[in-house]
Amino acid sequence: MGQAVKRGFKYRFYPTPEQAKLLHRTFGCVRLVWNMALAERIRRYKDEGLNTSYVDTARWLTEWKQDPELGFLREVSNVPLQQTLRAQQNAFTAFFAGRARYPRFKSKRKSRKSATFASNAFTFTGGALKLAKTTEPLAVVWHRPLPEGAQPSTVTVSQDAAGRWFVSVLVEDTITPLAPMDAMVGVDVGLENLVTLSTGEKVTNPWHERACRRKLARAQKALSRKAKGSANLAKAQLRVARIHARIADRRRDHLHKVTTRLVRENQALAIEDLTVRNMLNNHCLARAISDAAWSQLRSMLEYKTGWYGRQLLLVDRWFPSSKLCSTPGCSHINNTMPLNVRSWRCPLCGTLHDRDVNAATNILAAGLADR
Ligand SMILES: [Zn+2]
Repeated sequence: MGQAVKRGFKYRFYPTPEQAKLLHRTFGCVRLVWNMALAERIRRYKDEGLNTSYVDTARWLTEWKQDPELGFLREVSNVPLQQTLRAQQNAFTAFFAGRARYPRFKSKRKSRKSATFASNAFTFTGGALKLAKTTEPLAVVWHRPLPEGAQPSTVTVSQDAAGRWFVSVLVEDTITPLAPMDAMVGVDVGLENLVTLSTGEKVTNPWHERACRRKLARAQKALSRKAKGSANLAKAQLRVARIHARIADRRRDHLHKVTTRLVRENQALAIEDLTVRNMLNNHCLARAISDAAWSQLRSMLEYKTGWYGRQLLLVDRWFPSSKLCSTPGCSHINNTMPLNVRSWRCPLCGTLHDRDVNAATNILAAGLADR
């Protein structure tokens, strides 16, 4: 017995000059529509005290397209423009629910270049994917096949800062839940190790990440020495972006492997419930990378536990997981636990603790207690 789920598959592709031109124009229109809608929402709220719905913004879009000065909006597919308004609506919903920060304006240089096409704006026949208003199918590198007979529901085209083109295909897939089991695990996400488990196991960052980060530091240093507006500056920026992209790709692959294994091997998994808001003001690079890993880990665990009939237990973020002694019967809490302390002996019961294993053990116990 299987369960129908939406799954994303991401592939690289190589656009023809015609496609690249149209997609660049589409990205520009998506960004403009997002920014105009956001500005109008803010103005409306300030001047008239009105809240805005998706339907309102879709109506504005229809009006903007009639404006002769914005005639170029009619040259691209309308669907990605509507999709970005939907995404903005979702961003506001997430903000009001306290799950995300206030939606921001998209800048030309810094924001993600992407456009989402719903099923009425592309065709997928005989393995060929063709977007609205283009004549040729995309030259996609199908490095792994889509599920048998899958019909894509949306397709998102993007270009990263390193200049690489990607297409993410969302399809309905059928997943069979795993047989229930007894094993449970607490997971601590850390700076030193990617994750530490309550079983005592430590999963390290992929070995190449360290080397990549050194390369990144060198490239960033080189970038900071380049003069504004010079050709070398653009080259140095591209180099930094490429290294960033490589680190992110490898980390995602690694996290996929780790989370799939954890979900297969455990019925319940406990992690700390960090929020986006707590993570925003981190200027320390290592901490920022660890937070990014944590966000990805959490979202992967959320959907994978859902797919396979497992349980994800979220532990209150104020729980003192690293300061509390995890020995059963002892509940000594240390006043402080500086980051450089890797192991400590409990003054009350005398147990020698590994910092991260102790934290993971506490996270598991707290998760099970709340269940
Ligand atoms: Zn103790």
